[in-house]
Amino acid sequence: MTKPIIGIAGNQLIHAADVFHGNQVSYTPQGFVAGVQQTGGLPFVLPIGTPESASAYIEKIDKLLLAGGQDVSPEFYGEEPHPKLEETNKNRDKFELALISEAIKQKKPIFTVCRGTQLLNVALGGTLYQDLSQYSDWKVKHSQEPTAPEFPTHSITTEKGSILSRLLGEHYQVNSYHHQAIHTLAPDLTVTARAADGIIEGVEGKQADSRILGVQWHPELIFHKEPKELGLFDYFVNEL
Ligand code: MN
Repeated sequence: MTKPIIGIAGNQLIHAADVFHGNQVSYTPQGFVAGVQQTGGLPFVLPIGTPESASAYIEKIDKLLLAGGQDVSPEFYGEEPHPKLEETNKNRDKFELALISEAIKQKKPIFTVCRGTQLLNVALGGTLYQDLSQYSDWKVKHSQEPTAPEFPTHSITTEKGSILSRLLGEHYQVNSYHHQAIHTLAPDLTVTARAADGIIEGVEGKQADSRILGVQWHPELIFHKEPKELGLFDYFVNEL
């Protein structure tokens, strides 16, 4: 059987002074590669390229995975940088925005994690909290450092009838490494999970034919311990 080709949008290590002799590298966290491999997919890591090259990349893959990483540049949702904004990479933003747009155009399924989910929301017309301190009801620790990612630390409640509800149940616990979050939801997305303080932790495409799943936590860092997290990869690779 032909394995589905999963394009994983890569990152570029800019401040690489301590590794690879300071040379820049294109990479993705190994958990994404392993999660796709273990569920029967063939992972292709896509290095950051020009937005114009996105359509050619999307033609070569069956599904698109967007990983975590830098903050999304606020100019892409019409805001000036908040003082608590952290590192951004505009080249990555532009390339991944183009990948999302092409994947939707070419009807390829999209799975997004953390920053990927935030960028997806921006790509579809939504906005972000540049820092959770901008959210008045912020009550949950969403940056769980220094607790290791294999330990889920906060609860989520999933929406009835959603993909996440089917895969994870109504109440579930996730790991959490984000200081940004979805603010205004994009019109074509629907919320499928929230933390106890109301922060959006899961989204799906709203249209009946859309094949989009996004989570705010990091299944790639915990699936080796939690079968339900591997189940997210399995769903993406084999069903979405
Ligand atoms: Mn969280």
